[in-house]
Amino acid sequence: MKKTSLSKRILSILTAAVMLFTMTGAASAEPSSQSGSDGVEGFVKRLYSIALGREADPAGLNDWSSQLRDKRATGVSVAYGFIFSPEYTNREKTDEESVELMYRMFFGRESDPTGKAYWLKMLSENEGDAGRIKLFEGFANSKEFRQICDSYGVVRGVYIPTLEYKTTGKTELFVNRLYEIVLGRGCDDTGMRDWTVKLINKQISGTEAAYGFFASQEYLGRNRSDEEYVEDLYLAFLGRASDASGKAGWVEKLKNGDSRLSVFNGFQGSQEFLGICSDYGIDRGDPIREKTGKTVCIDPGHSSVIAPGYVPLGPGSSEQKLADASGTYGRWSGLKEYELTMIVSNKLKTELESRGYEVIMTRYDNNTPVDCVTRAEIANKGADIMVRIHADALSSSSANGAVAICISPSNPWNPQTYSGSRLLADCLIGRYCSTTGIRNRGVSEQNDMTGNNWSKVPCVLFEMGFMTNQSDDLNMADASFQTKMVKGLADGIDLYFEKAG
Ligand SMILES: [Zn+2]
Repeated sequence: MKKTSLSKRILSILTAAVMLFTMTGAASAEPSSQSGSDGVEGFVKRLYSIALGREADPAGLNDWSSQLRDKRATGVSVAYGFIFSPEYTNREKTDEESVELMYRMFFGRESDPTGKAYWLKMLSENEGDAGRIKLFEGFANSKEFRQICDSYGVVRGVYIPTLEYKTTGKTELFVNRLYEIVLGRGCDDTGMRDWTVKLINKQISGTEAAYGFFASQEYLGRNRSDEEYVEDLYLAFLGRASDASGKAGWVEKLKNGDSRLSVFNGFQGSQEFLGICSDYGIDRGDPIREKTGKTVCIDPGHSSVIAPGYVPLGPGSSEQKLADASGTYGRWSGLKEYELTMIVSNKLKTELESRGYEVIMTRYDNNTPVDCVTRAEIANKGADIMVRIHADALSSSSANGAVAICISPSNPWNPQTYSGSRLLADCLIGRYCSTTGIRNRGVSEQNDMTGNNWSKVPCVLFEMGFMTNQSDDLNMADASFQTKMVKGLADGIDLYFEKAG
């Protein structure tokens, strides 16, 4: 059912681009192309007749039709234009007449008594625009209206009342396009709504949306061959079917062991995809990073609620230490250490995830107490490394700089993690200090840090600078400086995995 409209669009793109490749299948869509444009005009004429009670004027007919043909509007967005137009409002329909009109417009039939009573009750309980909007939402997002749109070759779209409606039509068509090309089916309302809201709110880019489709369980379940995968990429990113030599080159890359993601990124970077995104008013965004397969545990030091009591200094140790400490505070910034460590940890998490790492944190808010043994045990449940984020303090305000603390080779509890911990410490301190310009105080090997002693994976407690030093304190509290700090730490983690494998 959707295949026809897809082939039709491919055909029109092919024609527009003066593509000379003859595609099997595309030619068969030719006869329906003409009826498609008639369909669009029929759709618009029907709305004039039902909503405005008159014949379409040529200018209006042409305007709405070309919006639908050029993929700038959906069936729902055009219907919205009619129902919320001054001309419609001036017809001063009673509630009963409005409901009856909705039935004809969106369901293609007269009302039934039960349904009509339901909508009239709703209107009596919701005055003015609130009622009109609910009425429109209920009818426009219906299966029946989808069928009507389908019969005219129009993409229905979905009405999302929380959004400034005029902006959503093109975004929905971008999403609909991915459904048709990648999943080989029309959209469902929930999916259309979710993707559209995320794209409009700029929570995701066009690339991330496309990746969401190509990486979905549904797509994987289609078991596409390498050839089919490349063909899907041609349609999604270049807006055309493949040419033989181009396709062969990509398929060979896959056969030679290149990942599907790397080929995806090859298409993502094309001028054609940039053009498609800009046609639909969408940010293309960056390529998708390969998953590293590595998990980093970030431990934001301290908390506003301090874990009570004592814990053993290491597994089986008779020496007890405070379960957690309150930490220091910025003498100039006024920030608490637990606030600073959370801010930097959250930013580091985002950066690492964008670089393809899985990230777990030992705490996600400032009110949860976490003792130092628990912090290590969270890392021990599957992280490859643990990075503990802290800031330093001394009574002298002149002390400044960063230091990376790890266990020594003679650590009684987990000496097998020494070499990894030391490597991680060297990588972190080197990259952090060269990126931020903060003074490098080097690596300190010591066995008195409970969390380090309990960690079964390479672990570093990283003191980012002194909150008792004016320059360090104000720098660490500055958002743009934090970006450098996070880049330095993430570069250090990249370097560690490069070296450690
Ligand atoms: Zn601390």
